[in-house]
Amino acid sequence: MKKAKAGHLRRLQLVKPFIGRILLGFTVMLVAIVIQLSFPKAVSYFVDTIAKESSTDWLLVPAILVFITFIVYCTVTALRFYLFESTGDMIVRRLRERLYSSIIRQEIGFFDTTKTGELTSRLTVDLDMLKDALSMNIAIMTRSFIVGIGGFVMIFGISPLLSVIVMFTLPITILLTKWLGRKVRLKSMALQESLSGSLHTAQESFSNIRIIQAFNQSKKAIKTYSAAAESVLEHSLENSKLMATFQGLSTFASFSTLLVMMIVAAVLISKGSMTIGELTSFILYAGMVSMSVNSISSLWGQWMRSYGATERVFELLDRVSKIQTYKEGMEIAQLQGKVEFDQLSFAYPGRQEKEVLSTFSLTIESGEKVALVGPSGAGKTTVVNLLLGFYEPHEGYIRFDGIDASSLDYRSIRESIAIVEQEPVLFSGTIAENIGYALSNPLDRLDEIEHAAEMANAHDFIVNFPKGYQTAVGEKGVQLSGGQKQRIAIARAVIKNPKILILDEATSALDSESELLVQDALNKLMYGRTTIIIAHRYSTIAQVDKLVVLNRGEVIQYGTHQTLIENEEGMYHKLMSNQMG
Ligand code: ADP
Ligand code: MG
Repeated sequence: MKKAKAGHLRRLQLVKPFIGRILLGFTVMLVAIVIQLSFPKAVSYFVDTIAKESSTDWLLVPAILVFITFIVYCTVTALRFYLFESTGDMIVRRLRERLYSSIIRQEIGFFDTTKTGELTSRLTVDLDMLKDALSMNIAIMTRSFIVGIGGFVMIFGISPLLSVIVMFTLPITILLTKWLGRKVRLKSMALQESLSGSLHTAQESFSNIRIIQAFNQSKKAIKTYSAAAESVLEHSLENSKLMATFQGLSTFASFSTLLVMMIVAAVLISKGSMTIGELTSFILYAGMVSMSVNSISSLWGQWMRSYGATERVFELLDRVSKIQTYKEGMEIAQLQGKVEFDQLSFAYPGRQEKEVLSTFSLTIESGEKVALVGPSGAGKTTVVNLLLGFYEPHEGYIRFDGIDASSLDYRSIRESIAIVEQEPVLFSGTIAENIGYALSNPLDRLDEIEHAAEMANAHDFIVNFPKGYQTAVGEKGVQLSGGQKQRIAIARAVIKNPKILILDEATSALDSESELLVQDALNKLMYGRTTIIIAHRYSTIAQVDKLVVLNRGEVIQYGTHQTLIENEEGMYHKLMSNQMG
């Protein structure tokens, strides 16, 4: 209970920065409420005067007054709508940004175990729900509350006896509302979950569209998606059933009250203790009261629904990255380039039971070049992942220049590391922006970018594009070949001027012609830097100082080309002679 209260408060606090707008909104709303509450009085006046007067001379002035009042009413209603709606949009915008920054800082392990669709639906569906709850609903609830109280005061003034009868419906509706709120909150969590599941399914198929069509599996994709949509429907239906039951019951309560009220009113009027005009305004006010109570309860249902949805938004907002908390505010590293892996053992968060590295040890001196070779799945990329601080080793240490990595700020470590991977990933944007990715102001440093491109053997092909460095890449730009992308990725690494360079199968996806250009670029890049090269091909690792052969997470051979190739029983010998043969 206490926790729920804090939860409500926390949601309301999101409104705080916009308190000025909100207050203005409430002010115009108050004007609208006063007009709304005086409306039945006017009707009552009209009805009784019509009955009393035989001419219509009196009509003009009240009609003009009512007309002017209507104009004011419509204006403030429009204003109120805009003020609250726009505040909701602003709240969501802020929250969206905060949420995104929280997500983007999570450790890589978090992304291994969380579906992308789930994260994007947090940013879209869930936030939209919160928006409605925080803007319109708060406004309408407040209005209903005031109108309800005001209306009640009015009917009490007209006829206390009739008012007491109206009162009877209240507790029924309130009880119903509480029951509904609790149920809906639980159901809506499940609904949001199935929604984000369906989002994930759709996203995955869109990004794998080539494979789906190449394998003629559109039908299968549709089947998977329709199952996801079906599950969304099931959950929605349960929600709707709840709402429908509630609607039925509360309508029944109001109409029964109305019936009893009419009977009593008939008696009162026949006795002469009430006029028809009074009855008219009483019914209008009573209608306001009952509509207010109904709208409060249905909005409460919506609030609880959004409560479920936003629970996860807050969970995600509050989540602290495992890597960051561990390293935040710690010593800033100025790396020289020496790296030690000391008895590392590790399993991925998504597959705890399978140890991927066991007691892996390796020392790389500053400026030294070391090759990691071994069959696919041996754990080579995992070594890189640990070096970059994507995951924490379960046992053992990583040291930079002799300092335990866990006492260093990992962001500063990453400043000194650059990586070139097998499948280079470029962002949408221009070539210049992609090369200058590590720079805070790439547009002011075009000279450096060009220089990096020259180092990476990329300058020549870039200037051959009509727009040169300003050519857009990716979805809306040119489609680059694998070798061209790779050289842009190398230029992106060059510009960082890293102390430590990681090449994870950087040439293995290339044909032999572009491999030559890329290899030449890599050789220039490696010069004078600590380098870890993961590769299969001999040409790539010909110039390294040391070789480590990894198999199933363990170092099984260690030495120079000469010593390893001479051992004809060793795995290195087999790996290399397979390729050369
Ligand atoms: P490689 O030597 O080919 O680079 P990896 O280091 O990528 O091998 O993978 C080593 C083992 O860890 C493999 O069995 C792989 O299936 C597993 N693995 C890799 N990444 C993950 C991950 N994110 N979650 C769970 N298991 C993983
Ligand atoms: Mg790998």
